[in-house]
Amino acid sequence: MNNDIIVSISTTLGKGAISIVRLSGEGSIELVNSLFKGKDLTNVDSHTINYGHIIDNDKVIDEVLVSIMKAPKTYTREDIVEINCHGGIAVTNKVLELLVSKGARLALPGEFTKRAFFNGRIDLVEAEATMDIINSKSDKALNVAINNLSGNLSNMIRSFRQELLNLLANIEVNIDYPEYEDAEDITVNSIKEKTEKMKESLENILKESQNKKIIKEGINVAIIGKPNVGKSSILNMLLGENKAIVTDIAGTTRDIVEGTISLNGIILNFIDTAGIRETEDVVEKFGVQKSLDKMNEANLVLLVLNNNEEITLDEEKIIENIKNKKYIIVVNKKDLEKKINLKKYNLDNIIYTDTVTNDGVNPLKEKIIELFNIDDLENDNDAFFTNERQISLAKEALNILNDVNKGVENEVPVDLIEIDIKRIWNKLGEILGENYDEELIDQLFSNFCLGK
Ligand code: GDP
Repeated sequence: MNNDIIVSISTTLGKGAISIVRLSGEGSIELVNSLFKGKDLTNVDSHTINYGHIIDNDKVIDEVLVSIMKAPKTYTREDIVEINCHGGIAVTNKVLELLVSKGARLALPGEFTKRAFFNGRIDLVEAEATMDIINSKSDKALNVAINNLSGNLSNMIRSFRQELLNLLANIEVNIDYPEYEDAEDITVNSIKEKTEKMKESLENILKESQNKKIIKEGINVAIIGKPNVGKSSILNMLLGENKAIVTDIAGTTRDIVEGTISLNGIILNFIDTAGIRETEDVVEKFGVQKSLDKMNEANLVLLVLNNNEEITLDEEKIIENIKNKKYIIVVNKKDLEKKINLKKYNLDNIIYTDTVTNDGVNPLKEKIIELFNIDDLENDNDAFFTNERQISLAKEALNILNDVNKGVENEVPVDLIEIDIKRIWNKLGEILGENYDEELIDQLFSNFCLGK
């Protein structure tokens, strides 16, 4: 891959105290030096900050601090220059324009990190962790990302691959030199012992990864219920602000109102939906359908019922469907006379609320914490997969592992098993980006923000 000079504004563009224009690639230092009045930047030590001015011919454009970082100990492993400008839009753009006019190319989103990957400074898991750090919305998510950037997951995958490599080496020695006595005698049973162990570890990590998915993605909560039971009020009670419009007229919460809170470090995304009552009103019907759709999309359903009314047929339909999901039955308006009777439905997780006095908000939150084991999700140093790409590759590796184990049981010849072990080794390598698909890599890095 080429290492032409790329340039980008690496800070958010807007009014600010400083903004940083970053360059990477061979010749970056010389290029900036040609626009710099101050020390000769081509002669300064690496990792120094140098005061001076950016000039256009003789005209001063900005007073700046220039960081010089020489390859290879840099983010991209190439020469990197960072220019700390005064943080105005016009001045930063002017500096950028000047650099482009002198031959630098505007970087694509994520291109700096892509270079770090291609130049072998980070693997794909670490590149993804970098993106996760930027996108983290909670402390817990940030911890996970930092954990992965520090290489825990990568190291674990590498140790799996090393084990596979050892196994392959032993198999080959056994096939090629059956008389060689020092080599560990590879029997199908000894293969199975090792692959079974690996299978168990991989399964555990995958399970853990599924559990911990909510750390990064949060929990999508659908609040459903027929009109006027108090869905908006419940949402407001949870959000602690007046976000949804509360009214007395049935069916006014037609639009999906989203709100977000952090519950012990886990993000809850609330989707307040329209009533579930079937109606002739076209707009309302749209809302009804959305309710049901949202219920399917959600990780958690809060079905709001009115303490003061008997269960309707529509509500019964929802109750029948709800048991396949993580759910909480919120019986609202508990301050009013109890007319509801839930006994025959055999439901768990029933919380009574009164949104007028905010009674029930804590038990409701505690129930959510309990349902998702939020307090046990504390991020230890365990490695786990943090995105679908990693998870699906790990699943593929696991499937092949299962084939190997079955093969061993059915006394498949060792050289066939060897082929499968190589495939597992490759799959795990794909997670690290060791053998990659060009298109996928481009796609992945294009999700980065500009300047990273
Ligand atoms: P939605 O249509 O399900 O979103 O219901 P709203 O949140 O708009 O509430 C409908 C009506 O019920 C409003 O007049 C609220 O003031 C009232 N309401 C909501 N929660 C309670 C409650 O706990 N007790 C009583 N008495 N009224 C409530």
